[in-house]
Amino acid sequence: MKILYMGTAAAEGWPGLFCSCPICSHARKEGGKNLRTRTQALLDDEILLDFPPDSYCHALKYGLDFGKLHTLLVTHSHMDHWFPTDIIHRHEHFGHGAEGVLDIYGNEAVEKAFYEHILIDRFKPHPIDDVVHFHRTHGGDRIHAGEWEIIAVPADHDKREEPLVYICKKGGKTVFYGHDTGANLSPEAWDLLAAEHFDLISLDATMGLKTIGGYHMGLPDIEPFIQKLTDLGCVDSHTVKVINHFSHNGEMTHDQLTAWGAERGILAAYDGMTVEF
Ligand SMILES: [Zn+2]
Ligand SMILES: [Zn+2]
Ligand SMILES: [Zn+2]
Repeated sequence: MKILYMGTAAAEGWPGLFCSCPICSHARKEGGKNLRTRTQALLDDEILLDFPPDSYCHALKYGLDFGKLHTLLVTHSHMDHWFPTDIIHRHEHFGHGAEGVLDIYGNEAVEKAFYEHILIDRFKPHPIDDVVHFHRTHGGDRIHAGEWEIIAVPADHDKREEPLVYICKKGGKTVFYGHDTGANLSPEAWDLLAAEHFDLISLDATMGLKTIGGYHMGLPDIEPFIQKLTDLGCVDSHTVKVINHFSHNGEMTHDQLTAWGAERGILAAYDGMTVEF
């Protein structure tokens, strides 16, 4: 299986759009892996994870035709994960030859934002019901898409909605995609994780040096979280461990994140990183 990390930043991007802190200034000066767009990933060129405003740039950068994709898993409605307006461009008027249907899975807040952006007067001549199907999704739901089995897991994130993270399985390989979530998962979520053995885990390291005790993780949360997964038998020395979804407010440069990970057998994601496992 293959995962492509197309974007690896938290909401404001890295450097932040309006930010001149030392980390953002360093990123602008150095460029390369220090530049991060908003978080989005692609599994085996088939499963699209989240749809930030940078999705269009990701399609350009990575040479992708999103009209060939049929499954989009949306974790929650925050703008760095869900920019629904661009979905209108899957209509035949804008997206010639887009194949079949795009199935979108997301919670109620994601669904509400979707219809608020699509069902506006300007787009009424271009209904997309035939080419995009929205599926309201809850924690514990099991989704079947082609050869994939996907399990929605309740996240420890914005309590105003039901944020989800996803377990994705195909051909004997299993991935945990954990963006965005803190470490304080519900017993239901731990039960769902405990039933799996992961070949790759992708963990929220938004806060960098810091920890805020939930909502997001920082590096102080990562090792205890991996230890808990190890104790549950979900993770072992063969599991690829990745940290992702970084904020400049974590006060670490890309090189510092990479060095921290290298000492612990953990990969710090960057835009364009591909992992095969
Ligand atoms: Zn986010
Ligand atoms: Zn900054
Ligand atoms: Zn979020």
